[in-house]
Amino acid sequence: MGKIFQIAIDGPSGAGKSTIAKAIARRLGIDYIDTGAMYRALGYKMLQLGITEDETDKVAELLETTEIDFSHGDIILDGQVINNLIRTPEISMKASACSALGIVRKHLVKVQQEMGAKKSVIMDGRDIGTDVFPNARYKFFITATAEERAKRRYRELMEKGENVSYEETLESIIQRDYNDSHREVSPLRKAEDAEEVDTTDMTIDEVISYICDKIEK
Ligand code: C5P
Repeated sequence: MGKIFQIAIDGPSGAGKSTIAKAIARRLGIDYIDTGAMYRALGYKMLQLGITEDETDKVAELLETTEIDFSHGDIILDGQVINNLIRTPEISMKASACSALGIVRKHLVKVQQEMGAKKSVIMDGRDIGTDVFPNARYKFFITATAEERAKRRYRELMEKGENVSYEETLESIIQRDYNDSHREVSPLRKAEDAEEVDTTDMTIDEVISYICDKIEK
């Protein structure tokens, strides 16, 4: 393999992208970058400061003064580890809303491109194979039915002790699917040269082996 390469993992919410990408990163000894966490971090900060999506001047200023980074698998916002603070249903919706703003995408895509230019990475998100790294060496588009994704997400939230119902989880998945695939800037879509992997009837381990086989070949 050439020196630096990127693996793009895209797909809708709750398809298991991050679990899959994390495992593959470990196996290949490369860095994992969770771009959804970056939109979540920004959404979290906007909520804390009470900034709404239509206040574009404030958002622009926020982007200039905000630092989002990863260190040893932790997501760091302005020097503070915020891993658990950004995994709530409220932050999911806020991330989806602020990610529709052109200035937000432009800024974070640039940061992501810088992160993947220096070392080999596996990056998961919605637009990695289409916009962030259109020349990524490997591209996968991970899907599953909305019901299956809601089931997985619901289980995860229950384990963390979050108080939500399956119906609410499903509704949130459907709502985010709609937002993410209907926004004007970089809507969620499969890159033409990405391989689609429907994981509805697969276990996470099966998906990981399937993708690793393709990469190691
Ligand atoms: O992947 P995750 O669910 O953590 O992402 C949260 C939200 O951030 C998504 O619903 C999506 O709107 C947005 N996002 C995006 N582009 C990415 C990653 C996430 O628009 N590359």
